[in-house]
Amino acid sequence: MGMFEGKKGLVLGVANDRSIAWAIARQIMEEGGICGFTHLPDRPDDDKQKNRRRVSKCTDEYPNSTKFLVPLDVQNDEQIADVMKLAHSELGSIDFLLHSIAFADRNDLTRDTIETSREGFKMAMEISAYSLIAVANAAKGYLSPKASIATMTYFGGEKCVPGYNVMGICKAALEAVVRYLAYDLGPKGVRVNALSAGPLKTLAGSAAGVGEMLHLYEHMAPLGRNVTHDEVGRVGAFLLSDMSDGITAEVLHVDGGYNAMGSPGRLIDAMQAQK
Ligand code: NDP
Repeated sequence: MGMFEGKKGLVLGVANDRSIAWAIARQIMEEGGICGFTHLPDRPDDDKQKNRRRVSKCTDEYPNSTKFLVPLDVQNDEQIADVMKLAHSELGSIDFLLHSIAFADRNDLTRDTIETSREGFKMAMEISAYSLIAVANAAKGYLSPKASIATMTYFGGEKCVPGYNVMGICKAALEAVVRYLAYDLGPKGVRVNALSAGPLKTLAGSAAGVGEMLHLYEHMAPLGRNVTHDEVGRVGAFLLSDMSDGITAEVLHVDGGYNAMGSPGRLIDAMQAQK
């Protein structure tokens, strides 16, 4: 019997088959779970429904495990409430909720943090950190007693990672949100955790400068390589399953050990070899 047999939940943040949310959802569905998905709303004049089509290309591969695919912009409280109501009517109690969403204006990601615009900061924070509060609050009446909520974060929220800039500040806030929500929802038996992934090539990842990070991790991480979508997917599924039932308010790293390094380690050897 699969780890998610009889479990149903919501997956927010699939953009395409490279999305981390998709890597996690696939694991859940392979283990017998049923998922409801959302996609960023298409513009009314977009007859081709580009956003919806990108996601349905993925979910169509799992027709028996996909309960619905509906639009959701986490900046819109009404849409969040509608999605939660739909999830409740289609799935019953929600056993797991994955929040895998982040956004910052490219201009704010590419300029120095000190030059971050007020509007850009507000928007990045709202979509990348506040939205976890909004989503958890809207879901709380529909969550099953042992439900698990997970979100995605990055090391740039713990330490200064030049280039990650305003998103690092959002991730620091998001990790704090995880701890406070875990406290609020703990008495209901509901857990809230974050998975801190090493760099992966995705749409959001490219905007945040993942290319150079891949090289760095390969040389610096104790494992001496980058992590894979499947590795992150498995740990995401673990956090959303009953297997992790004693874990809450945690930031779990899936980064080949990179976060534990206090020096460039083997990167120094690689640099010396190049001389
Ligand atoms: P993706 O681009 O695949 O996923 C990001 C998702 O956020 C997309 O589905 C995007 O929709 C969605 N999104 C953005 N704005 C909104 C909004 N207003 N309302 C609803 N959805 C929105 O990239 P990833 O899979 O890499 O990113 C998922 C999470 O993982 C993010 O939190 C990211 O910071 C985090 N992460 C990523 C790492 C990496 O190296 N890739 C490393 C560590 C953490 P759309 O594309 O349609 O705009």
